[in-house]
Amino acid sequence: MKEVVVPKVLYLPLHSKSFNFTAVCVSHGQQVSLGEKLAEDPDNYDAPLLSPSCGKVDLEKTPGHITLEELSSVEPKSYIYHDDSDHIHKKMGPAGIKRYKLLNLGAWEFMKEAYTGQMPDPLSTPQAVIVSTLQLEPFLVRGDVLLKEHLRQFTHRLEHLQSLLEYQPIYLAFPKVKSDFAAKIKEQIRGYAWVKLIEVPMKYPYDNFQILSRHLGLKRNQGSIWGVNVEGVLAIDNALTASRPCVERIISVAGPGASLRQHLRLMAGYPIAVIKDEHSEEHTITIDGGILTGRLLTDDTKGVPAECRGITFVPEHQSREFLGWLRPGFDRQSYSGSFLSSLCSVFPDRVTNAIRGELRPCVSCGFCEDVCPAGIMPHRLHKLIYQDDIDTVEKFRIDLCVECGLCSFVCPSKIELMHQFQDMKQTILKEKEIAAAEAAKEAAKEASESQLETE
Ligand code: SF4
Ligand code: SF4
Repeated sequence: MKEVVVPKVLYLPLHSKSFNFTAVCVSHGQQVSLGEKLAEDPDNYDAPLLSPSCGKVDLEKTPGHITLEELSSVEPKSYIYHDDSDHIHKKMGPAGIKRYKLLNLGAWEFMKEAYTGQMPDPLSTPQAVIVSTLQLEPFLVRGDVLLKEHLRQFTHRLEHLQSLLEYQPIYLAFPKVKSDFAAKIKEQIRGYAWVKLIEVPMKYPYDNFQILSRHLGLKRNQGSIWGVNVEGVLAIDNALTASRPCVERIISVAGPGASLRQHLRLMAGYPIAVIKDEHSEEHTITIDGGILTGRLLTDDTKGVPAECRGITFVPEHQSREFLGWLRPGFDRQSYSGSFLSSLCSVFPDRVTNAIRGELRPCVSCGFCEDVCPAGIMPHRLHKLIYQDDIDTVEKFRIDLCVECGLCSFVCPSKIELMHQFQDMKQTILKEKEIAAAEAAKEAAKEASESQLETE
């Protein structure tokens, strides 16, 4: 794992996959210290964007970012956490105070609601927590890599997690393979009655929290299920034991277009251009995350987003290949087996941004349906979304989509199915929230009118 040096400037994106830090808490030119709140997300329990370093704020230089200049590296140890959680104590007791502390120190964002992938309400009560030591999507940092140096203290760290709960079970998912790592985990957990082990096949996307919940028979309508990965367990432990702000990330820099593959320990906002210069070959596209579920990073994003788990470089085709989907090539693979490489497995597969051919309409090949672990019909959903028929989209159970990205990967028409479904799920959620708020307003109005009549 390589520790990067503090850069000259940090570019902290105000928008990431789950957060919109729209409420900026600092002013242009202000000097900030490490761990200071720069902005917060009012729609996400005021989740904070914390300053990863001491420095001077620039709100004008880079649109969509808070830029930090004149950085000085200060040891996180010197950070002092100010507890202002009296109101939480009355409501939730000691567990609530700890969760509130995690939220303020930026560690709560590692906790995800299994069925929505969103950060859960820190003051809610889950029915169970799933801890996953697996990371099965190619090119991202695996749990055993993160735990390498910390395996001995892992159970102690899980105790911290348990202290956030009342009596709810913790399920620990680990790979169903004979390995040193699995054996050591089993050995450590023995005697911890509150941790239940689940062995999971080493096949993508069995590490998905929604799939794990279904595998365990945990029903969505019986309360929320929280999911956290190894990095989250380490962040929670760090925040609770040392009261340090969680401003560092361990990310993988990899992919078929990477000239140097490494795990980096760096701070949010680290310049993408520096990573690209040092790790990417010429002519690549940059993906925030893994090759299946990541999103394309455009030139508008200058720094590593707060939630980033990895940067994947994929070679970009410079010219269009004539009949590219058909042309024989021993190093090319496709789900349809249309390349000669399907006949011989000794050649490494070539993954480029043209792997799925050209963008074109759905050709009803059904590949997306074949691979979908949720058992839904992605091609049908795609057509309904195109027709803007939201009611039928819901009837075709878009809610079951676990956002694994397999349908997008195999689609020969290069349709970004998963991203379409993510966006549509958000739209449906927002529409429901608006409808619920209007219904509540109407009910309150009717209640006050009937009260006036009785008076
Ligand atoms: S619809 Fe696509 S992204 Fe959703 S679960 Fe099925 S294969 Fe995965
Ligand atoms: S894989 Fe793509 S082209 Fe084939 S049915 Fe699904 S959406 Fe249509």
